[in-house]
Amino acid sequence: MLADVLCLRSQPLMLAPLVLAVVLTGCYDPGYQLDSADEPVAAQQQTWDSQDGNPTHATHSYMSEFALDQLKGWYPQLQQYRAQIVDGSNRELHELPVSDPEQEALRVAVGGTNWACDRPAILWDDARAAYSSGDRAKAWWYVGIVLHFVQDMGAPAHAFHVVHQASVSQMDNFEFLALQRWAPYYDANRSDPVLASPADYIEFGGAWTVEDFQQAFPGKAYTRTMFATSWLWAPTAQKNFVRNRQGRGALATQWALLAAVAGFARL
Ligand SMILES: [Zn+2]
Repeated sequence: MLADVLCLRSQPLMLAPLVLAVVLTGCYDPGYQLDSADEPVAAQQQTWDSQDGNPTHATHSYMSEFALDQLKGWYPQLQQYRAQIVDGSNRELHELPVSDPEQEALRVAVGGTNWACDRPAILWDDARAAYSSGDRAKAWWYVGIVLHFVQDMGAPAHAFHVVHQASVSQMDNFEFLALQRWAPYYDANRSDPVLASPADYIEFGGAWTVEDFQQAFPGKAYTRTMFATSWLWAPTAQKNFVRNRQGRGALATQWALLAAVAGFARL
């Protein structure tokens, strides 16, 4: 299944070292079972790794689960709709078509791009309309999709609009490191700006990532291949950057989710 995730079926010789890197660095989660409802969606285009067809626990899931765990004590409704939020945050609605008709229509409507989408406000409009009509499960699923884009912009390839895919020839090494190990530092070097819409955190998250990168690697231009392909030989500065971005992406998710709670409360 890892071959599906990384689109390596036609490149078996490349698979062995990549699998070895994943296993040796300890991220493989043998307890994770794919849900029968899961189906491959835009597998060519995983960013941070997402759930569908992924034998590891997805980075998008980790970030959403962190946000939910921080807020569920205050807002029990979040726990009630946890599955919908996590599922939404694993949707990959970018520039490539997806198989599910509803998701494909949504992808076209929001103008999916390689890094995020052009019209994320549509998702928040759809979420509020669903909430107002009483379909809270659908409303929180839309919010989850917004969270996905917030999370994506926590990765430098997205923040700098560096086009990449899951295939080996177009792989983003930073995201491959993140897939191998979830090891976040929750060291927020800023606080929640309390934006009006969860969709506003997409742009905010990208700017945060750009600033972090420029601080960590002054004078360097981001490329897909500048990071190591394994934690085993990645320099400390790269490992710290990945860990900070994992944690701060999760924090941006938390703040965006809180903005959705506040937005629904205003309806
Ligand atoms: Zn994505």
